[in-house]
Amino acid sequence: MEKNIFNKKTKIVATLGPSSETVEVLEQMIRNGLNVMRFNFSHGAYEWHEQVMKNVRIAAKNVGVPIAILADLQGPRVRTHVAEEVVIASGETIRLFDVSQTDEEIAQQAHDVKYLTLDCPHIVDAISVGNEILIEDGLMKLKAVDKTEQYVVCDVVDGGTVKNHKGINIPDASIPLPTMTKKDYDDLAFALAHDVDYIALSFVRNGQDIVDVRQHMQKILGEEVFLPKIVSKIECKEALGNLERILTATDAVMIARGDLGIEMDPTTIAILEKDILEKSIHHLRPVIVATQMLASMEHNARPTRAEVADVTNAVADHTDAVMLSGESSMGAYPVESVATMAQIAAHTECSPYDDIHEAMSIAFSSEEVRIAHATYDFAKEMQAQAIVIYSESGYTGRMLSHYRPEQQIIVVTNRQKTYNQLALVWGVQSFLAEGKESREECILHAIDTAKEKGILYSGDLVITILGTTKKGKKLTLTGTRLV
Ligand code: PEP
Repeated sequence: MEKNIFNKKTKIVATLGPSSETVEVLEQMIRNGLNVMRFNFSHGAYEWHEQVMKNVRIAAKNVGVPIAILADLQGPRVRTHVAEEVVIASGETIRLFDVSQTDEEIAQQAHDVKYLTLDCPHIVDAISVGNEILIEDGLMKLKAVDKTEQYVVCDVVDGGTVKNHKGINIPDASIPLPTMTKKDYDDLAFALAHDVDYIALSFVRNGQDIVDVRQHMQKILGEEVFLPKIVSKIECKEALGNLERILTATDAVMIARGDLGIEMDPTTIAILEKDILEKSIHHLRPVIVATQMLASMEHNARPTRAEVADVTNAVADHTDAVMLSGESSMGAYPVESVATMAQIAAHTECSPYDDIHEAMSIAFSSEEVRIAHATYDFAKEMQAQAIVIYSESGYTGRMLSHYRPEQQIIVVTNRQKTYNQLALVWGVQSFLAEGKESREECILHAIDTAKEKGILYSGDLVITILGTTKKGKKLTLTGTRLV
């Protein structure tokens, strides 16, 4: 077992794809510091997802570390609906239709004028004159200059070749699709049947979206089960306006800089990232910084200096996790990309810039929050090497992580879901204690395992917290010098 994967505290999420689908590659990625595997449900058949999820569980077991599976739902994505590629030139005027009309009706309306169709019924009604319409991650841009009941007249600002099924962003229009589409509900049912650890919701707009999905999952899985945690992807203007409500309702956050950089002025994204990071941590929500972090590594074995600086800044701003997208799903260097991220994280965590601000507050107060804060202060004062926590739900571990202590946070749990989910949480190393009778036995088991793995040594001072159980709320804090 490589010791370095325990030394790094910032977690790594990788999107899986053809470059990273085999047990062999997945194992190599884990051995280089990968913690969370992201399945993007915008792509891939169920057969592929099913097989690769199996491979992930095998690889995690082979390496012996917790790995979380994150199922990322597509959300209300509008796409082009064109039979053949359409070349649009900057400066020309085209018509934009939607699929509320048949192809024949559209062809009649268009006459000889060039046109595009979008796959979302009634999107024409939602577009106002003055709106910008961005095609394929903003590669092409239209501006609505006039409209009728049937179509929108658009000037082509930035031309190109429009292909079928390409993503559309209309930042200032309210898209007439629910946050969870029929496809999302089908994908969610598949994800729940495959026992995933996290569900990511794309284009979340408000807190109610999250409450509804959680209720839906509870209905399917029942009251007794630990649910997958919900990651809200912040990627549209409306979400930014409702950020406080989203942070209150969600379990975790992804700063989805790809779409966010299309919906918002891209020159504001770095500041938005800092703001969302700070607010997520304040609300005790694990947060992932995503997209284009090491983009050039899709084709090159080494990243650019700017990409290294981007990851460094996210780590220095205390993100829980950094994410790989095309680098790990389609790129030529998936393992090297993980290793590079891990190295940047480890170096940054050693620098003074990673020190958490002392007065880091939490958005709410409770007995548990006060005990977590006291534990953080106590561990620092005592110069302890680790904080070892027994926890069923992982809540106490997430609270401790919030303070970003210098110490390793070791969470021992008897719940597989908690064990996996903590893979996303900054600085937490989780252990599974199956078949142990008491919380004390679980703690001893965790300490023994940590010693075996070279995380703890004789003579180390360890602070332990016996966390809450469903039967009774009891938090006991002790300090122990290991023999
Ligand atoms: C993003 O837009 O940055 C993102 C992570 O979402 P997706 O990959 O689903 O477009």
